[in-house]
Amino acid sequence: MENLDWKNIGFGYRDSDYNVRCYYREGKWGELEISTSNQISIHIGATCLHYGQESFEGLKAYKGKDGKIRVFRIEDNALRMQASARGILMQELPVEIFKEAVFKTIKLNKHFVPPYESGASLYIRPLLIGTGPQIGVKPATEYLFMVFVMPVGPYFKEGFKPTDYVIYREYDRAAPLGTGNIKVGGNYAASMKAGVRAHNEGYSAVLYLDAREKKYLDECGPANFFGIKGNTYVTPKSESILPSITNKSLRQLALDMGMTVEERKVPVEELAEFSEAGACGTAAVLSPVRSVVDADLNKRYFYGDEPGPVCVKLYNKLIDIQYGCEPDPHGWVTIVE
Ligand SMILES: *Cc1c(COP(=O)(O)O)cnc(C)c1O
Repeated sequence: MENLDWKNIGFGYRDSDYNVRCYYREGKWGELEISTSNQISIHIGATCLHYGQESFEGLKAYKGKDGKIRVFRIEDNALRMQASARGILMQELPVEIFKEAVFKTIKLNKHFVPPYESGASLYIRPLLIGTGPQIGVKPATEYLFMVFVMPVGPYFKEGFKPTDYVIYREYDRAAPLGTGNIKVGGNYAASMKAGVRAHNEGYSAVLYLDAREKKYLDECGPANFFGIKGNTYVTPKSESILPSITNKSLRQLALDMGMTVEERKVPVEELAEFSEAGACGTAAVLSPVRSVVDADLNKRYFYGDEPGPVCVKLYNKLIDIQYGCEPDPHGWVTIVE
């Protein structure tokens, strides 16, 4: 591990030494099991393979200046995974098992938690899948929950530098009354075509519009969206947006900084009224938006080549709490003992 170039590891899959697994069989969750294998063996009829009974989470652990390892808002991730399970009829995992599995996986792999100075962190990926066989479209009776981890640098390789986003009206990532508000793999399968096209055309991600009317902003592929207008933090409200824990935290920090927060429908044309804009999620934390290109209307909303002052302030405040450099007035951080 000593020879890992922590600053330049990027955001990509990497093996660690251990992962933790927990099986739901015969109506109950079993004990946590530790594994050193990066493989799983499942039934060929498993519902995760055929009918997308799959949900995942993403959170991070950070090593502070004091050497302590902190995880951010873990309870929110546990609760969101339960909401995802309810949304696609998977067995819900108790919050306590979720937390215990995450803490155990971090501790087993603690030499993979990047040093404070690197600005890198440990990405934690909990996964819940239907493993029991069905050939008719029905929920599985057996499930596997697992947690694995890997060290990551910033999600966007440009780091904290504004990047470009694009609107295409010919793709939706989720239906209005579909599964956009839960964290399931199906939404990601549905977003790959547009996402890869956006990358090929030089954009960081797609900024999706509401699927019903194409009038309002939804979110970016893997991140929520916000704009700054005067002293107001504006973020879209929609039935098909994934409730981002990062966005929820930024809204609270904006309030703490004396800003107004609006969570409401945001018409596309309002992009012209923002002084700054950002994408937010665990992977990227906060990624300032340089421009949004409305590809269909041949329009470009420009916010600046450098991050705006509100984005900088919000970003620093959030990562300082995550790394334990600032007090944690809202109780967001748990120290891994
Ligand atoms: C996970 C995710 C986010 C970000 O959520 P965080 O809790 O902030 O990590 C945003 N949008 C989608 C579609 C997601 O899956």
